[in-house]
Amino acid sequence: MGIIRGYICSSCNFEKNYFIGIGFSNQKETKLFECINCNAIKKSKLSNPKCSKCNRKSLNEIMDFTKKLECPRCNRREFNFEIEGSWD
Ligand SMILES: [Zn+2]
Ligand SMILES: [Zn+2]
Repeated sequence: MGIIRGYICSSCNFEKNYFIGIGFSNQKETKLFECINCNAIKKSKLSNPKCSKCNRKSLNEIMDFTKKLECPRCNRREFNFEIEGSWD
């Protein structure tokens, strides 16, 4: 059970869906983080994960989904939150 947050880049049309929330029973909740150092987006179950791109523990949980993120493909800050759905 959880939610899907779909992002789409208004610059290059790259789309990505992030499945977050709680998966199967007894699993920790997956959250979405943004690296304040290199702007990478990371999905993690840890409370203080390490960035897979720059290896720093400089990830902030994304709470504000109206904020534009940096697109993983073209690196422009045009990655917009578009859809929300649910999964089980
Ligand atoms: Zn980083
Ligand atoms: Zn893009």
